[in-house]
Amino acid sequence: MRFKGVAGSPGVGIGFAALFEEPNLDWKDAEYLGIEGEKNRLNEAIATFKEDVTKLANQALEKHGKGHSDILKRQISLVRDPFFLQQINDLIDGGKVAEAAVNDAAEACAEIYRSTGDERIMERITDIMDARTRLLTLLLKVETLDPESLPPQTVLVGKDIPASTIAVLNLANIAALVPESGGFTSHGAIMARAFGIPLVTGLKGVFDSVKNGDRVIVDGNDGEVVTAPDEETLATYMAKRQSYLEDQKSLNKFINLKTLDADGQAHLLFANIGGINEAKVAKANGAEGVGLFRTEFLFLDRATLPSEEEQFRIYSEVAGIFAPNEVVVRTLDVGGDKNVPALKLPKEDNPFLGYRAIRYCLNEPEVFMTQLRAILRAGAKDKNLSIMLPFVTSVDEVSAARKILETCKDELKAKGQAYDEGVKLGIMVETPAAVFMAEELTQVTDFFSIGTNDLAQYTLAADRGNAKLAKLCSPFHPAVLKGLKKVIEAGKKAKKLVGLCGESGANPQMIPILLALGLDEFSVSPSSVLRVRREIARWDMERAKALTRDVLSLTTTEAITDYLKEALKTAPRTA
Ligand code: PEP
Ligand code: MG
Repeated sequence: MRFKGVAGSPGVGIGFAALFEEPNLDWKDAEYLGIEGEKNRLNEAIATFKEDVTKLANQALEKHGKGHSDILKRQISLVRDPFFLQQINDLIDGGKVAEAAVNDAAEACAEIYRSTGDERIMERITDIMDARTRLLTLLLKVETLDPESLPPQTVLVGKDIPASTIAVLNLANIAALVPESGGFTSHGAIMARAFGIPLVTGLKGVFDSVKNGDRVIVDGNDGEVVTAPDEETLATYMAKRQSYLEDQKSLNKFINLKTLDADGQAHLLFANIGGINEAKVAKANGAEGVGLFRTEFLFLDRATLPSEEEQFRIYSEVAGIFAPNEVVVRTLDVGGDKNVPALKLPKEDNPFLGYRAIRYCLNEPEVFMTQLRAILRAGAKDKNLSIMLPFVTSVDEVSAARKILETCKDELKAKGQAYDEGVKLGIMVETPAAVFMAEELTQVTDFFSIGTNDLAQYTLAADRGNAKLAKLCSPFHPAVLKGLKKVIEAGKKAKKLVGLCGESGANPQMIPILLALGLDEFSVSPSSVLRVRREIARWDMERAKALTRDVLSLTTTEAITDYLKEALKTAPRTA
């Protein structure tokens, strides 16, 4: 069967389906089998737990080294812990089903760890909550798929595959990803692009039509998924994959080159990253710096927030990878499709328009200041870290953040800790309010980075993750393009650098427009860096400007994209 969806991450992946579902760990229908019955179930689950986790720990030792294996071993010692076991047994004696007893005992232990306020002890909360989830899965006999131990050539198919799951996959074994829900700029797709894994999203029916082990083809260039292909189809896609891989290889010659347009003018080409691994991929692909470090990925999928020390270590490592070049660290952009369970935020009716990002940080100075101190300290050595605020809608948000930043510097100075006094403070321009206020905002910020993923979503009032709105939520809508022009012009007038870190910066149709408007810095997915460098080399300013003049005179997205398609096809480019 053939399915057409949104091309989320390029490349052609061919492999075998593994169905991914978030396990349902609800035990409200579990029947109490009496003290003995519940304890038997508990002991059986613990025995299987020890067996499974010991096996995983041994595998992890071979594949990932000691650190990963130690985490699993800590879970085994937890289920051996007499205090934890006594608590579970007491709760069963008191009439609770084993599932509730395990859950409550784990929560109680976590609370004790939390109350110590000691960061090293609090880090153990993640272990206890992971052990709880694994035990519940066994007690409820829920079929789960362990995202870390998938076999080679896996095509992961799910109704949804959250970014937090993608973060723990053993990517060497993943041929492709197929989350049915999502759009080009949803965070799962952004992560897949960062690691060069083909992904197709925004399609219905694949999950229900495949079984584990079925052969699946995923064409992330054209947004197609084919299940149970015949021999001829398979051969066609194998050839397509081969030619994609050859083209990828041909890009290697751009790795150590400068980013020059056809006139020989240099441009900054940075990468967007979500952690140390992506930083390494970006560096290996020739990125000249980091235009967006999405730090919220350090906060996802864990029971406690990362401490100042943990953040300091990570920011320092990334700073070291790129030094002396710049790394722009974006402060916590929680909210929307980025849920951080450790913050325990209440559910909202409109999370994309809600209590999020800078709004949350200004209201929770402890979380914000912990992060700011970590960035300030990590920038002390190479002075190459900058700070960027997400989701800004007004001048006073920036002023308030700057005040807090100054307080953090004072604290560090008082403690005699090293930090970067001259750190730059910039903002994401990703709301219509920030576009309208661009001139005023240049007065309070050191730089702008345009986030077209959100700017398109908020300008056009179209959810970026809703596949049904994929056409509408386009950065080529004339309203978004007018916004880009206005922001870049405001930056030029005030002599402030303007970058762009939305996904559209890697789109070959957008590149000449951004060059013509005078964008200072492109920041794109690590796997797109070389393609963008090649694309920039194809444009001289005269042709880019002529094309942009025509584009800006058009009044609909369709007219603009049709025009660009034709223009890129017919006008032979320089390189
Ligand atoms: C954006 O909104 O364009 C952006 C780069 O940030 P994120 O995708 O993380 O919202
Ligand atoms: Mg954004």
